Amino acid sequence: MIKKVSHIGIAVKDLDEGIALYEKLGLTLEGVEEVPSQMVKVAFFPVGDTRIELVAPTSEDSPVAKFIEKRGEGVQHVAFAVDDLEAALKETEEKGIRLIDKTPRPGAHKADIAFLHPKSTLGVLMELCKENH
Ligand code: ZN
Repeated sequence: MIKKVSHIGIAVKDLDEGIALYEKLGLTLEGVEEVPSQMVKVAFFPVGDTRIELVAPTSEDSPVAKFIEKRGEGVQHVAFAVDDLEAALKETEEKGIRLIDKTPRPGAHKADIAFLHPKSTLGVLMELCKENH
């Protein structure tokens, strides 16, 4: 079902500061995109076959703003790429893992995404992601 790690989501307060850090580490910024459904702005850095995704809240109501408030900046989610997101969600739920999103929603990068509930996944917020590029 899972093909690879699509990206690792890292919560930052200030996107520009985050971008500057990852550029210092030698990574190349691929693009910045706003995701209104999540109230975030994201910046992508390809690393081999996967990406680092910096996620900064654009509103205090963003789930990422709440994450930073509670746990501080840092690794926020791990996204796994799947071929068939609907089937993957169905299979995951049938195995007793709670879903945050029962149906796919639009994410950054024209991907369809859905989150699994961290209470079901040993505290890790996992995203299943159908890459459409
Ligand atoms: Zn993500």
